[in-house]
Amino acid sequence: MDKEEVMGIRREFPILERTVAGRPMVYLDNTATSQTPARVVEEIKRIYTHEKANVHRGVHTLSQEMTDLQEQTREKVRRYINADSVEEVIFTRGTTEGINLVASSFGSRFKAGDEVILTVMEHHANIVPWQLLRDRTGIVIRVVDIDDRGVLDLKQYRSLFNERTVMASFCHVSNVLGTVNPVKEMVEFAHSKGVPVLIDGAQASPHMILDMKDLDCDFYVFSSHKMYGPTGIGVLYGKKRWLEEMPPYQGGGEMIGKVTFEHTTYADLPFKFEAGTPDFVDIAAFSKAIDFITEIGVERIARHEHDLMEYTQARMRDIPGMRIFGDAPEKSAVISFLVGDSHPYDLGLLLDKQGVEVRTGHHCAMPLMDRLGIPGTVRASYAVYNTFEEADAFLNALMRAAAILG
Ligand code: PMP
Repeated sequence: MDKEEVMGIRREFPILERTVAGRPMVYLDNTATSQTPARVVEEIKRIYTHEKANVHRGVHTLSQEMTDLQEQTREKVRRYINADSVEEVIFTRGTTEGINLVASSFGSRFKAGDEVILTVMEHHANIVPWQLLRDRTGIVIRVVDIDDRGVLDLKQYRSLFNERTVMASFCHVSNVLGTVNPVKEMVEFAHSKGVPVLIDGAQASPHMILDMKDLDCDFYVFSSHKMYGPTGIGVLYGKKRWLEEMPPYQGGGEMIGKVTFEHTTYADLPFKFEAGTPDFVDIAAFSKAIDFITEIGVERIARHEHDLMEYTQARMRDIPGMRIFGDAPEKSAVISFLVGDSHPYDLGLLLDKQGVEVRTGHHCAMPLMDRLGIPGTVRASYAVYNTFEEADAFLNALMRAAAILG
């Protein structure tokens, strides 16, 4: 992407013009959440101003218009991830809720001693729901390790499958190491053993072409707020045959067929899993974020971010004491690092004082921090609107911070 195109994209993000500590802000915390283009914000405002009514509730015009907007987004998501049917696209509060839904509902069929395979690079969102299930049912959690570059040990992955294995659940892209896992190969292997797979796509959905038919996973989850969309919503993709068999996750309005005190029947898919009033305004506005991504092209976005990462990493390696965590051959635009023995918070504060917004800490991946033998890292991550000038500003700020910390 040339500079002019990126500058044009930036114009859709007024927040990028703000200052921090008296300097132009350099926003490099895109892995945590990306910024939101004006068209999404305007759509939210337009709906609250002119359109708001509850969905699936009334015959009145506003309710029908709002329902259409929500369901158009569902169809747009279906196309974005190439799912077979909108029945397989469930709106959630985000990645976290999607995983909890699967662990709780699909997991209700698991028994004591059944084994679930995770990896050491998982976000807490793909660890704790399985531990809650373990506390309820007595399942056993197995964990795949990584090598020094942050690449999954696939040999160990394959060796963990046995007759007790009932599920494998892993991230598509690590939010700390940037490692892009060979998910298609991993799904194929799991399926050859008759084991269903959930993929945490929180860090893949803004940067990759997603094709559920090709990937053939059983479940896939992601969040809108990391895709230039509104906060508070996400998507669970699930294969229809599983979703039909699974019990509801929550009960309430919208998810029922007929209710009596003796017996209740459930709504058809996808509504069976959408109890209560959905976040229909944000769902409708999410449609504009998907337009934003698809107009530029997700592959072009990823290439631009990757160029920025390669440029930055190459220069970071010249800084004395620099330790970069994650050197997988397939890597997303996430750079986790430490300088010598300095604490990540000290580095983060010194960068913030120079207008550079990066993440510090354990990144909701404490088991991975333990595996790496560190308390946390500083993490810089790129999005489509970042520039090479910002990469330079970050590098200069980092050199100054490193010099201060000795
Ligand atoms: N998984 C991964 C890999 C993530 O990076 C995140 C967000 N940091 C999550 C899960 C949780 O996403 P959310 O908080 O939007 O539910």
